[in-house]
Amino acid sequence: MIVSKNRVVSIAYTLTGEDGTILDRSRGEEPLSYLHGTGSMIEGLETALEGKAPPDHVSVSIAPEQAYGARDDSIVFSVPRAQFREVDDLQIGMQFPVQGDGEGHMVTLIGMDADEVTVDGNHPLAGLTLHFDVDIVDVREATPDELEHGHPHEGPSAHSH
Ligand code: ZN
Repeated sequence: MIVSKNRVVSIAYTLTGEDGTILDRSRGEEPLSYLHGTGSMIEGLETALEGKAPPDHVSVSIAPEQAYGARDDSIVFSVPRAQFREVDDLQIGMQFPVQGDGEGHMVTLIGMDADEVTVDGNHPLAGLTLHFDVDIVDVREATPDELEHGHPHEGPSAHSH
């Protein structure tokens, strides 16, 4: 069965940056499952996988515009350190959820001094060209429930409800 819209696709993958650094990978024997064509996977990767089938191997480099977007310097900002007073051990690289815009959104702490903390609202992979090495492990039709929810219900990385 080929990868196409509204099918559940399971992949084993390694994600590397332009310098070859491994940024992310599926763990061991557990592939990542996602519902194809619903925007849950980055656009460039969906495009690369469309029409492929197990056991195809796909190796693709994806520009930021087709991945996590360009970096936006206007969402790097400083806030009073007092706003983080409940955090015991504040460290560069920590991520914090931001409320208010409906969706879960994270900011990353990129700097601090005695008075202020600097946070970056960009996705950690924004602005990067991403290289994916993907093995397509499985493709199947989604169930009606899965289509309604927009995510897989079976498989190692699926939701359990
Ligand atoms: Zn669900």
